[in-house]
Amino acid sequence: MIQRDFQKTANVFAALEHLYPGKFVADICEFDNEQSLRKWIASDLLPLFKGTVAKIDDLVVTWVDDSRYLGDAQAGLAFVREHLGAPGKALAAPQAAGKPDVDDGQTYEFDVVVIGGGSGGLAFSKRAARAGANVAMLDFVKPSPHGTKWGLGGTCVNVGCIPKKLMHTAALMQESFHAAKSYGFGQEDYNSWPKHEWSRMVGSVQDHIKSLNFGYRVQMREEKVKYLNKLGSFLDPHTLQTVDSKGVKETITARRFLIAVGGRPKPLGCPGEELAISSDDLFSLPEAPGKTLVVGASYVALECAGFIHGLGLEVAVMVRSILLRGFDRDMSERVGGYMERKGVRFIREAQPQKLEKVGDKIRVFWGTGSEDFDTVIAAIGRDPDTKHLGLDKAGVIVDGKTGKIPAVNEQTNVPHIYALGDVLLGKPELTPVAIQAGKLLSDRLYSGSSETVDYDRVCTTVFTPLEYGCVGWTEEHAKEVLGEDGLDVYHTNFLPLEWTVSHGEPNDCYLKVLVDLSNQKVVGMHYLGPNAGEVILGYGVAFRLGMTFKDLTSTIGIHPTTTEEFTLVNITKRSGKSPEKTGC
Ligand code: FAD
Ligand code: NAP
Repeated sequence: MIQRDFQKTANVFAALEHLYPGKFVADICEFDNEQSLRKWIASDLLPLFKGTVAKIDDLVVTWVDDSRYLGDAQAGLAFVREHLGAPGKALAAPQAAGKPDVDDGQTYEFDVVVIGGGSGGLAFSKRAARAGANVAMLDFVKPSPHGTKWGLGGTCVNVGCIPKKLMHTAALMQESFHAAKSYGFGQEDYNSWPKHEWSRMVGSVQDHIKSLNFGYRVQMREEKVKYLNKLGSFLDPHTLQTVDSKGVKETITARRFLIAVGGRPKPLGCPGEELAISSDDLFSLPEAPGKTLVVGASYVALECAGFIHGLGLEVAVMVRSILLRGFDRDMSERVGGYMERKGVRFIREAQPQKLEKVGDKIRVFWGTGSEDFDTVIAAIGRDPDTKHLGLDKAGVIVDGKTGKIPAVNEQTNVPHIYALGDVLLGKPELTPVAIQAGKLLSDRLYSGSSETVDYDRVCTTVFTPLEYGCVGWTEEHAKEVLGEDGLDVYHTNFLPLEWTVSHGEPNDCYLKVLVDLSNQKVVGMHYLGPNAGEVILGYGVAFRLGMTFKDLTSTIGIHPTTTEEFTLVNITKRSGKSPEKTGC
């Protein structure tokens, strides 16, 4: 909640700067304690109104000019309204994106150089070139420590969403084999169904990826974006050094830059870490990984563990603390519970202390035990790829703790240098988020728009064996904001019709709708079941438009589907009644 409040308040103050040009300057900062904030304010007074949005410990506070404490964000806003009157005419783009990005009148080779040709970089480059900008885009893949490389398109296309979803689909097919028998296909025993061939799956997946790589290269040519397969780093705020695969160095200059370099998997940080592979290697492994340990407990770890197990291999997941940090607790445990029931083993409250090669196995040691695996996958998060970018030479500030880049509306502290996608501080690391940011930034810089990204209310889905999709608040967060008495949680267990004939399992699927009792608005939706991504996105539109619980339940569903369960939900947790669904 605090992070969300801070971000929201920061966005409001950034907008005020834009609405009161020349009268209001916003500084968006995080401080360790109140004392350091006071010291900073005292040493840095401006003759203008200066609004400071500060995050200190767990408080979001606003201050104005002469160290006057205003209270919360709303109070800050009211003060500005009272003292600065009605807002002036908004600054024209591109200043609308943040601090004035003034043309210095110098001549550069390109209007804009984009560093990174992943989801965000590609989206921006195409849009900007279409709007008439002279664009160059660098994309260079540094091989993983195991030597894996790939083509143009970034993480999502090569080592992320695309191969992950395809392999998840392969794993779901395995389940369909079980189901098929009940539907009248084959009389054979399940064991006689064809065995899965990992290498053939990898071949098909990699062929598809190569076709996407090729497609992007064609698009770059067609859109007249100069694509450079080179690694870039800043020499000064308007100059990059580029290095190609042969080590040939050149320089390139531009009026503006966009940093869209994404991130790379974190190493395990224990002796023997080099024995572990990561998601960068998994999707092109020539042979099946065999008995696998996945270290980590978030999106990447659970998705990879899920499909590897679904393809018939033995899998354990080593969990340091909780599953899916940041997600709804109840839903996360249900995701894990289903995986466990299907045969994925969870080694809880453990972290690898050492990895050792023993014959052709990897022996993993942790606090209370050790075990041999064929493959260990490190899935403990990703580091932004900012270390060797020369950002200090360009004057771009980097967050010391995470290595990510703070920005307001994708604009860094250096007005002509922008950043988006996974490299941004405090924003969701998702492909559609990076793409939206790329499109809207280009529109603001080159097409006169002032539309900014709504980083809140983003739908997401975890593609675990039982998929989990959600939008809005978690139940914990909703209780924190609204209080137990201000919130109703409607929930239901359900069994998809498709599964009734074949699975005969308990009602593993589950959904819940969180409702703010003060205005009946839906503040969170959570769905655990098949096709979660397809289900949740449509509701995401209604959610963004401020749907009430009545809007939801007065919508006539489509029968028989799983998504209709959202329109039928009527049992509250408060009622204590069973959420188990019976009948159709
Ligand atoms: P990236 O796509 O990472 O692109 C950055 C590019 O910049 C890379 O090609 C990199 O090689 C290049 N580069 C880096 N440094 C330089 C340099 N100095 N010079 C030149 N080039 C450079 N998101 C979803 O929405 N749905 C999913 O299902 C999903 N699944 C995922 C599964 C996995 C296993 C992983 C790892 C991620 C997944 N994501 C998913 C997240 C998604 O892939 C990222 O959010 C998205 O790719 C970020 O885009 P980006 O443009 O910020 O960076
Ligand atoms: P992540 O969300 O940052 O999670 C890291 C996980 O590793 C957490 O479970 C964390 O546990 C654990 N961990 C961290 N350090 C550890 C250590 N030293 N030892 C053991 N465990 C450790 O990372 P991710 O799963 O790699 O995902 C990265 C991003 O990619 C996500 O934020 C997501 O946005 C994106 N992504 C999206 C999708 C999708 O849309 N379906 C799929 C994959 C990835 P703690 O909780 O204890 O910190």
